[in-house]
Amino acid sequence: MKRRSKSRHWRSAQEKDPWVRRARTEGWRSRAVYKLSELDERQHLLRPGMTVVDLGAAPGGWSQYAAHRLKGKGRIVAVDLLPMDPLPEVTFIQGDFHDAAVLEQLMVALDGKADLVMSDMAPNISGVRVVDQPRSMALAELARDLAFDVLGRGGSLVVKLFHGAGFDDYVREIRRAFKSVAVRKPAASRPASRETYLVARNYKV
Ligand code: SAM
Repeated sequence: MKRRSKSRHWRSAQEKDPWVRRARTEGWRSRAVYKLSELDERQHLLRPGMTVVDLGAAPGGWSQYAAHRLKGKGRIVAVDLLPMDPLPEVTFIQGDFHDAAVLEQLMVALDGKADLVMSDMAPNISGVRVVDQPRSMALAELARDLAFDVLGRGGSLVVKLFHGAGFDDYVREIRRAFKSVAVRKPAASRPASRETYLVARNYKV
């Protein structure tokens, strides 16, 4: 497919997507918000007073939802490669999370422990599984390493994880570090996608 017709196809698929339409009507920045809200409704992840890290935050649906749940009490530090329009209660850092300087900025902004690390980071999908799977696992590993560094006892991690090479080992390692771990496929996650979300609660430290 040519680039212009590909982007026309993408726009028309977006217009038809009920989650996109609902997000627009309800004032959320992305359809992804319904993935987090479903996980939160099931597992009670967010409450006022928490310190939250949002990795892969743009355009900002998850940060927006977290701010709504924190009700003005708590802190949110968000990171993305792409720019993100400001949100009043969110400290945003633009950069590649592979970059040590970005991690350092995040640590400075955080200035202490976090209660929840959430990562919706995903690489640009090439469609070639042997390329995409290691790239997405590498992002999930960065999120896990950050969680191990910054979560206090009882903290939580939510991370996007694609079924494929490395998935089982990743889940096994997370099970050793947290008291409760679940793998979820929210209704707003496209059925054809191998995307799932791992929700780990009660970090043992
Ligand atoms: N959760 C977001 C929301 O609710 O609006 C949607 C996130 S989108 C599915 C995935 C994001 O991950 C993209 O904005 C992308 O730029 C970001 N991303 C991918 N690789 C990254 C990296 N190495 N460092 C920082 N952000 C990254």
